[in-house]
Amino acid sequence: MFILKNAQQFSQEMILSANLENGLFIDATAGNGHDTLFLAQHIDSTSKILSFDIQETAILQTRQLLQKYDLAPKVTCILDSHANISNYLEQEERVRLAIFNLGYLPGSDKKIITIPSSTLEAIQILLRRLDKNGKIIIVSYYGHDGGLEEKDAVEELISALPQKEWSVLKYQFINQINCPPICYVIEKKK
Ligand code: SAM
Repeated sequence: MFILKNAQQFSQEMILSANLENGLFIDATAGNGHDTLFLAQHIDSTSKILSFDIQETAILQTRQLLQKYDLAPKVTCILDSHANISNYLEQEERVRLAIFNLGYLPGSDKKIITIPSSTLEAIQILLRRLDKNGKIIIVSYYGHDGGLEEKDAVEELISALPQKEWSVLKYQFINQINCPPICYVIEKKK
């Protein structure tokens, strides 16, 4: 039986559908580390993860979670904006998959949110760096102040990507109250 998944569960399905061997994976918004942990649990031993956050507490939480599962060696946790991703990549290095969770860190300061300028900058960098069949997964929580503007900015950018080169998907329940999260998936065709 197939039960419909929410946006976050769907994002994990997308991760599992990727080639998880010998690739570079990016968690652009580490937060409490759940996506980083999920990636680390599923990639093979020749792959690596870069995990970004601008909050020290998020980086500490993520490191602790990885240590708990003995997965810390697979991940480089980086206290920096995802807008600076290029500074951490080799010149010709390609990215297999990147994931964003847009919004604020649950259980922390709700004023520290992802914002359109850096989110769009990071997406544009990643679009240039993706492997063939590589994916960018963006889970957008947009019920907070500023969330709608960011969601709209992301959607404007990615919905304009040429169909010949990119598949772009929007996944959302449309009969739920309170801004149900959206999962966007961008896949490079060639
Ligand atoms: N995926 C996370 C998890 O599994 O717990 C939740 C992420 S939370 C919705 C969004 C995170 O993005 C926050 O921790 C916030 O500090 C971080 N963030 C905000 N702006 C950022 C930026 N420019 N670069 C990297 N991280 C950023």
